Amino acid sequence: MNFAPNAAVLITGAASGIGKATAERLYADGVRRFALVDIDEARLAALTLEGADVLTLTGDVSDPAVWDKAERDISARFGGLGLAVVNAGVSGAGPIADLSFEDWRRVLSVNLDGAFLTLRAAMRLIAGAGAIVVVSSIAGIKAEPGVAAYGASKAAAAHLAKVAAKEGAPRGLRVNAILPGGVDTPIWNGMGFFDDMVRDLGSRDAALQAMATAATPLGRFATADEIAGQIAFLLSDAAATMTGALLTSDGGYSL
Ligand code: NAD
Repeated sequence: MNFAPNAAVLITGAASGIGKATAERLYADGVRRFALVDIDEARLAALTLEGADVLTLTGDVSDPAVWDKAERDISARFGGLGLAVVNAGVSGAGPIADLSFEDWRRVLSVNLDGAFLTLRAAMRLIAGAGAIVVVSSIAGIKAEPGVAAYGASKAAAAHLAKVAAKEGAPRGLRVNAILPGGVDTPIWNGMGFFDDMVRDLGSRDAALQAMATAATPLGRFATADEIAGQIAFLLSDAAATMTGALLTSDGGYSL
């Protein structure tokens, strides 16, 4: 795939799941300059991209001070960016009547404040043309009980992508959002209802399959690699006329 001339790429949440798969996919597609951000220092350090110029930044994407430093470090190392993937996120579930303010704030802080701060840094660091993908979620457009904080955060992140698309268009900066349905990544671990399903059905695969069978016309969840390939497409010149798009990738769940 062909990417913007300064194809240094920023990826948040790069230590696991979709972010890690996206770094590996872009590396396979020839990108060689990476700024990788994650709160999990050990797992981020374990990601190897042989021969690439990799700047790793450990920190919380919802902390403005992390971005002050990241913007300085990325400018010094790469002189700017051409591509960015606004990906770090956390899950959270619970009916509105039972949702504590702390849980609400935790999800909104990482998924929305973090998306804003990442997007702001990317729009500053990409000097002219380029491409950004915001990883939203199908939960941002399809309401389900128990998904208030996560869904609201992802709806807002998708809207941020559309505003950024209008702001970036005059200089050829494209901004799109991808809205995955279920993806087999560690983000499910620790969610009470999912842990219960794993225990009842005997394995993680069986629990994921049961959810996919119940909700998805295609009958399965995506892999992180599949979503990474779609992100790479949106970042590439093959998507040159796409901006402000909310691309669903949900096996038909939202139909
Ligand atoms: P994951 O848990 O495998 O990866 C998330 C990464 O983000 C982890 O490496 C984690 O350490 C990092 N992270 C979390 N909080 C952070 C913070 N405050 N600062 C910096 N890094 C932080 O999950 P994933 O499924 O790969 O999730 C990636 C994105 O995809 C998220 O935004 C998620 O909401 C979205 N998404 C996932 C699914 C799914 O079913 N897995 C579906 C739709 C959207």
